[in-house]
Amino acid sequence: MKEEHVKYLEEIAGQDKVLTDIEDKICFGFDSTRLQYLPDVIVKVKDSRQISSILKFANEYKIPVTPRGAATGLSGGCLAVNGGILLVLLEMNRIYYVNPIDLLVEVQAGAITVDVDKAASKYKLFYPPDPGSMKTSTIGGNIAENAGGLRGLKYGVTKDYVNSMEVVLPTGEIIDIGTRTVKSVTGYNLVDLMVGSEGTLGVVSKATLALLPIPPARASLLALFNNLTEAAKTVRDIVAEGVITATLELVDNVTINAIEDYLKIGLNRNVGAMLLIEVDGQQGSVDIEAEVIKKVCAQNNALSCKLAASEKERDVLWSARRAALSSLARIKPSTILEDATVPRSRIVELVEAVNNIAKKYDIMIGTFGHAGDGNLHPTILTDLRDKEEEKKVEKVIEEIFIETVKLDGTLSGEHGIGLTKARFLKLEISDEVYKLMKKIKHALDPNNILNPGKLFVD
Ligand SMILES: Cc1cc2nc3c(=O)[nH]c(=O)nc-3n(C[C@H](O)[C@H](O)[C@H](O)COP(=O)(O)OP(=O)(O)OC[C@H]3O[C@@H](n4cnc5c(N)ncnc54)[C@H](O)[C@@H]3O)c2cc1C
Repeated sequence: MKEEHVKYLEEIAGQDKVLTDIEDKICFGFDSTRLQYLPDVIVKVKDSRQISSILKFANEYKIPVTPRGAATGLSGGCLAVNGGILLVLLEMNRIYYVNPIDLLVEVQAGAITVDVDKAASKYKLFYPPDPGSMKTSTIGGNIAENAGGLRGLKYGVTKDYVNSMEVVLPTGEIIDIGTRTVKSVTGYNLVDLMVGSEGTLGVVSKATLALLPIPPARASLLALFNNLTEAAKTVRDIVAEGVITATLELVDNVTINAIEDYLKIGLNRNVGAMLLIEVDGQQGSVDIEAEVIKKVCAQNNALSCKLAASEKERDVLWSARRAALSSLARIKPSTILEDATVPRSRIVELVEAVNNIAKKYDIMIGTFGHAGDGNLHPTILTDLRDKEEEKKVEKVIEEIFIETVKLDGTLSGEHGIGLTKARFLKLEISDEVYKLMKKIKHALDPNNILNPGKLFVD
């Protein structure tokens, strides 16, 4: 990047907020895929006016701009694949207010997800989308990826909680979209267009998010099974019994052992799979639902199904689940986490398909995920330095996606297409839909400067 361009960025954001040292570029060159692309310059912005000036300047000189939150993304979305400006939003982390009557919170896009939930809890409210990364991820990143979480089955995903947003368009205009009302049918639903657009249609600078009252009672259960198939059948049957649990998470034997190696909390290493289940609501309904779950687990040959005896025991179980990915990542040099999602009725078939693919290619896969949402994370544990192994892994990934789509599923339940899944997009969407998506992108970003190289391969 030209020196005068760096100087101009310094004028906009301040000298200490513009980084060009190689050490900084390396630190900001990664995300949680562990791929690496170095930006030419890193700019830490503080408000929408700065973002707007940077985007106008970038349009003039056709410089790529990549928005970045906390870089916990798992599809390479915040990597500056074409160099250019990396727009870091982490310092835009203000939580403006919680409105306990309208059940809303207004935040800057760089606010950390867990901090939003903590602010809400002072009013006995909570922010339902709770990605496993919530202690680190930002609201802007959650909106861009339409992040889900452990509570998705009952409470939905990020899109269900975004009321309104301030967005800076790729051409630099600052717009407000959505409302602070419970409902609105005024014009096109631009909020839903922006949510999940992976930082390719606009930079989110502020958001007003919906909150819910914290349920008065909850119960967590741990059910153990001989094999994954019985656990997956249980997931399907619990919902078929009319119980919508807050969380319904599945963890396979490989992942159980990885967590136990890491946390040493006394998990049973010999079982084929476990389900972590939580129900919440009024005490009476929580008790009834817990009984139904125990019955369904028994019908599916569960080895055991126990209620967590205390809040402490509950917290241990959920921190174990949240540690699944980090625990698996310790096993081999390379970890590739996929995001296959199918209708819940087909979860058993997906589990079996992934197992068969792992056996066929003799590749280690740990599987865990939001099974209640039909969303599994088959996690390939490998060593990509070995070129033969890399070729096998490519085939494994492709076959997992082909099987997922055959099962009426989708390539990504929550991590987005980004860089890593762009070449598979046409497995799922038709040429017409692909062209329509590109037209939308072109209408908003005629010079293709905002997060180029993501979502589309051409
Ligand atoms: C251990 C672990 C557990 C995880 N668990 C979950 C889970 O349960 N559910 C889930 O959905 N995901 C999960 N993820 C993935 C990841 O945390 C989410 O995708 C998260 O939403 C990314 O937020 P971020 O702030 O880190 O965004 P980044 O990784 O920085 O960016 C992600 C994408 O958002 C764009 N972006 C960032 N900020 C903005 C903005 N303000 N405006 C426009 N675009 C922006 C970037 O350009 C990029 O395309 C997990 C990741 C890890 C490492």
